[in-house]
Amino acid sequence: MTELTCICCPMGCRLTVDEDNDYAVTGNTCKRGAVYGRNELMNPTRVLTTTVAIDGAAHGRMPVRTEDAIPKGKLFDAIEELKKVHLTSPVHCGDVVLENLLGTGVNVIASRDL
Ligand code: SF4
Repeated sequence: MTELTCICCPMGCRLTVDEDNDYAVTGNTCKRGAVYGRNELMNPTRVLTTTVAIDGAAHGRMPVRTEDAIPKGKLFDAIEELKKVHLTSPVHCGDVVLENLLGTGVNVIASRDL
């Protein structure tokens, strides 16, 4: 049994996941918690939010995020990869700034106009 806190909403339900019973989840108030608890033990993922360098804009860093969650184990490598990205203004919210991050099939997009 593994205990964890659901991070899908502010209620923060305390979940228990039973690895010996097909990762059955208890303590969740809604279905999202059951999905989160199971995934967190089998294949934990996170949406990455960070910034990359940009030239010719009012600010020197552009906020970006992954379009979807990526494996948690790749977060530090993803940050290193994004250190290599250097944008030139103008960039618009939703523009893809890096395709297929680390072969995950997930793009990195701009989070604002800059
Ligand atoms: S189980 Fe549902 S209600 Fe509870 S924290 Fe997760 S998303 Fe929120």
